[in-house]
Formats: sequence, C-alpha cells, structure tokens
Amino acid sequence: MLNTQLRLARRPSGEAKSTDFSVTREAVPSPENGQVTVRAEYISIDPSVRTHLNAGQSYRAMVGIGDIVDVPVAGEVVASAHPGFISGDKVTGMLGTQEYAVVDGATLTKVDVSLAPLPSWLGGLGLTGLTAYFGFEEVGKPKPGETVVVTAASGAVGSVAGQIARIKGARAVGICGSDEKCRWLTEDLGFDAAVNYRSPDLYRDLKEATPNRVDVVFDNVGGPLLDTLFRRLGMRGRVIICGATSQYNEGEIYGPKNYLALATLRARMEGFIIFDYVDRYDAARREMAGWMKQGLLGFRENIVEGTVTDYPTVLHRLYQGENVGKMVMRVVPSKP
Ligand code: NDP
Repeated sequence: MLNTQLRLARRPSGEAKSTDFSVTREAVPSPENGQVTVRAEYISIDPSVRTHLNAGQSYRAMVGIGDIVDVPVAGEVVASAHPGFISGDKVTGMLGTQEYAVVDGATLTKVDVSLAPLPSWLGGLGLTGLTAYFGFEEVGKPKPGETVVVTAASGAVGSVAGQIARIKGARAVGICGSDEKCRWLTEDLGFDAAVNYRSPDLYRDLKEATPNRVDVVFDNVGGPLLDTLFRRLGMRGRVIICGATSQYNEGEIYGPKNYLALATLRARMEGFIIFDYVDRYDAARREMAGWMKQGLLGFRENIVEGTVTDYPTVLHRLYQGENVGKMVMRVVPSKP
C-alpha cells in the first residue's frame, strides 16, 4: 500500500497556496503493538489550520517544515495491533493530510455511524459541534429570552451554535456572507433573524435584527465585524471569542476599537479552547444526540471530493465562504 502525503514546504504569506506544500509517497508500514492503521475517508477543512502554519497566536504547536499538516480525519481501520480496534471500525483522530495513518490506538475515537454518518463526526458531533456546545456552556451561558448573535453563522461551529442558542430558549440571530445563507439559517435551522454582513448598511440591519440589543456574541470572525457588534452589546453582555477567521490570513490582526463598551456595559469578553474539555466530550455528545432525536438539532456537511494534494485548494474555497455547514473533503485516491 502506497501512502500519499501532503507536507508543509515553506511558511505561507497570506493565504496558504498549493506551492507552499510538497507531496511525498511512501509505503504504509504495518502497525506495531498498540498501533492502528487508518485509511482516511474524510479530511476536515478548518479555517484555524492557517494559524498553525506560521509562528503566531495558535493554540497548537506550529507545523514543522517537511511535516504533514495535523488536521482532523475520519476514516476506517484497515489493520490493527490494538485490542480495542478491528478492521472496519470507523474512527476519528488528528491523522493529518495523508491517505493512511499508523497511530497509537489511544489517540483515536471510535464512532457510532448508526447515530450520525461519518462526516458528521468531523462536524456536528466532532470538534466543531463540541466547540459550539462548550462555548455556551463554559463562557456565554445564554438564558431564556436573551438575544444571542452568532458570526460565521452558516459555518460548522456557527450553524450548531445558533441551534443550541434556540434550545437554551434564547433568540438566535446569525450573521453570514450571503442572502441565500441567511435564508438557510431562518427557514431551515430556525434562527429568529439573519443578517448579511456584506449589506451596505450593516449596523442598521443589525439594529433591526436585535431590537433589545445583544446579550451574548458568539464570535468566529473577529476584525471590524466584531467591532460593530460591540456597538449593539447590552448591559452585562458576554462576548465569546471562539475564533477570528477574517484575520487568519492577515499579517497584522485588527484589534477592536470599540472595546470600551465592555466597561460602560459591565460586559466581558472571554476566549476558550475546545481541547480543555476532552473529558466531557462524551457527555456533551450524549446531550446533543438527545437534541437530535427530538428534532431540535441537525447538521449539514458540505462534502467536496479531492485527493490529499487538493487540500489547499479546498481550504481556499472555505475562505471564499463557499461552504454551507461543515466543509469536509472526501478523500479520493491519488494517482501514482
Ligand atoms: P466555518 O465553517 O465557519 O468556515 C469559515 C466561514 O467563515 C466561511 O464559510 C465564511 O462564511 C466565513 N469567512 C471566511 N472569511 C471571512 C472573512 N474574511 N470575514 C468574515 N467571514 C469570513 O469554520 P468553522 O466553523 O470550522 O470555524 C469557525 C471559527 O471557530 C473559526 O474561527 C475557528 O478557528 C474557530 N474554532 C475555534 C475553536 C476553539 O476551540 N476556540 C475550535 C474550532 C474552531 P461567510 O459566507 O459567512 O463569509
């Protein structure tokens, strides 16, 4: 078996391009004691990967030059020397941009595809869905009747966050980059209102959508949009800093100018990182599965086909806002 791998060849400037990567092909070794061989079926496409390619503000170790890019993957066990796995098991793990990974079985999560299809384990029941869940549980804590605004609301984290805000009894307002996406949020996902941030009068639209101001901001975008949201924050508002997709390809990050609103409003802004809650993932998934069964929570994956070497092109499509829901790449075998 030959393994095609995509490796970082140089530190990107601006958006990562195919020319920033190199391709290697090598034989897949047999798993040793405790190891498992997994064939990648779906690779997660995440905006934050860009922050791991340069030194900076990433919460994960920087990808080394010559290294495979460390990304979440869902796949099938094809060989196992670990008592907990057999061939045919479906698993997820940080397996990287390659067709096969031979890893310590302890780093894998076995998934139940009767509960949700495999790509959902990279999305709604995977890290992005859990991020929405813990952002509210740990930081935002929305209460019934409050107004929650979610940015990048049609994306992987945002689409789940808006639905959870509704489950908590809050009014959910989504912000995203097209009228079509806005319609999806209100008509299919049950958001109470949605605003297109490309509107010529964003503040007016936002004001209309949040007549009682905003109690919780779930921010995935950062930059000037976050600044505008400070102007709509209400007393004792909470701003959850989940991510800042608009800034990941920038050399210098745009910091909020309107932050003094936090003092005036006795409000607070707090970040969080999903990996701090690993020991609670299973309990969170059980609660989310319950909401799914009650028809309160649904997931959508935006599946794009590609070889491992297409990864940078698909990532570019995410930054172009082409995705609706969680973007994943279905891995098709590379031609030798
Ligand atoms: P998304 O599925 O939301 O995809 C990114 C979306 O961002 C695009 O669809 C696009 O939608 C929007 N976007 C892209 N460029 C810009 C821009 N310049 N300005 C405004 N919007 C833009 O990604 P995820 O759901 O995977 O991630 C959302 C955020 O959550 C990221 O910032 C990520 O880093 C963060 N995150 C944080 C974690 C944590 O532990 N704190 C864990 C996981 C993710 P549109 O059409 O609306 O522009």
